[in-house]
Amino acid sequence: MAAKSQSNDPKTKSPGSVTFSKAATQGQWGRAWEVDWFSLASVIFLLLFAPFIVYYFIMACDQYSCSLTAPLADIATGRARLSDIWAKTPPVTTKAAQIYVAWVTFQVLLYMLLPDICHKFLPGYVGGVQEGAMTPAGIVHKYEINGLQAWLITHLLWFVNSYLLACFSPTVIFDNWIPLLWCANILGYAVSTFAMIKGYFFPTDARDCKFTGSFFYNYMMGIEFNPRIGKWFDFKLFFNGRPGIIAWTLINLSFAAKQRELYGHVTNSMVLVNVLQAIYVLDFFWNETWYLKTIDICHDHFGWYLGWGDCVWLPYLYTLQQPSEAGASIYRRGNQGRAQGQLGLYLVYHPVQLPTRYSLGVLLLGLLGYYIFRMANHQKDLFRRTDGRCLIWGRKPKVIECSFTSADEQKHRSKLLVSGFWGVARHFNYTGDLMGSLAYCLACGGGHLLPYFYIIYMAILLTHRCLRDEHRCANKYGRDWERYTAAVPYRLLPGIF
Ligand code: NDP
Repeated sequence: MAAKSQSNDPKTKSPGSVTFSKAATQGQWGRAWEVDWFSLASVIFLLLFAPFIVYYFIMACDQYSCSLTAPLADIATGRARLSDIWAKTPPVTTKAAQIYVAWVTFQVLLYMLLPDICHKFLPGYVGGVQEGAMTPAGIVHKYEINGLQAWLITHLLWFVNSYLLACFSPTVIFDNWIPLLWCANILGYAVSTFAMIKGYFFPTDARDCKFTGSFFYNYMMGIEFNPRIGKWFDFKLFFNGRPGIIAWTLINLSFAAKQRELYGHVTNSMVLVNVLQAIYVLDFFWNETWYLKTIDICHDHFGWYLGWGDCVWLPYLYTLQQPSEAGASIYRRGNQGRAQGQLGLYLVYHPVQLPTRYSLGVLLLGLLGYYIFRMANHQKDLFRRTDGRCLIWGRKPKVIECSFTSADEQKHRSKLLVSGFWGVARHFNYTGDLMGSLAYCLACGGGHLLPYFYIIYMAILLTHRCLRDEHRCANKYGRDWERYTAAVPYRLLPGIF
């Protein structure tokens, strides 16, 4: 078994202590082999509480009009018991199960059966069969990049079936929001458990499996690096992109439709959030080939963190801004909203119609953040694709030559970019992402904490990711990485962090 064949390999060290570990010279720059108590405690905390956090947010919107404190206050003062809150929570329904199974099956079919044709007629778009980055075991996987095509077909069918043929209502996602949550959880747990069993008994490539000795850590962070079924069904690419990110824009559209149905019009804040997030989602699919070179695909193993996270956390918490908006409309419409079904007791929020100047400011912030995010990612991608033979901000880029060793003892050469946004800060792409995330939240006005969950979460996620990535890069590149951190001393904000 892979665990045995790899059990004598060197261990990576804690972030603080690593500069030139044995790991760095032997290609052990992937995920940690041993788990310190803090990581283990964090993993157990997340396994226990992340599903509860999602439930709490969605329940607070459904039963307490998006107030995060009201449920606690009710319980503390005895006005409600946990069992009362649970009893009011809509259960899974046959309809929701049918919708969810149809949705996931449809996405699997689009992913597996429709080779990309978009790259044949869209100038500048890179799709079709593409190679990923080299894994720690020295393997380069091939991927069928057809996400943009799947996104376009899905959205086209959504409009045709809901607006032209009236096969279903465009509010269908909103109307089944909590029953669908249970379905998403079932898939999220099923796929994570399957990935764990597969990692132990029939891994796609045993050389790229990692076992830490901790069941919880293995379950959460994954064992297999690139689990696949057959040659093409790649778990990481499918679950992140398809049930997760394609769903994102459909959910937003469904919330906007609900607001229109209940309130008669769609507020400018709802339009702003829809537009800004649609740009982000479309950017993801337009650049799906680039995504193969990001940390999710290049470094993270596939466990509960990605499996459950893509099925539940992403679609339910990344779209929190809109329920407040849609729910606000329900509140305004009072009993008419109740007639819509189980979400009738939803929200006591007012729809936000932003002053024009404010909304323009938010739009500009969102677009600027997106520009930095995209250009920084583009600069690195261009630099790596051309092996440094390109222009960054009109000049030949400054480069740090570096080397690393893969697990098969092969030595490889690489380059670190020190120009453009990568010379401003070591993760300025995250800074742009955070500016965009802040814009989504500001679009909801300042009246409530709940829509700001997204920026708080993204700030924690990307700061942690930045530290995690730098730990890995220090292991991978050793002294060369030190030269880069000396040349570009700040991570996210020059002069501050
Ligand atoms: P990056 O795209 O920043 O990739 C980091 C990797 O790039 C490093 O591991 C290293 O890999 C390489 N690298 C680091 N510095 C340099 C340099 N100076 N020159 C060349 N290569 C370098 O990280 P992510 O994959 O995390 O992020 C990609 C994008 O996705 C980001 O913009 C981020 O904001 C976004 N994102 C969004 C999330 C969301 O939920 N909305 C979640 C996570 C990310 P190597 O081993 O190849 O050298």
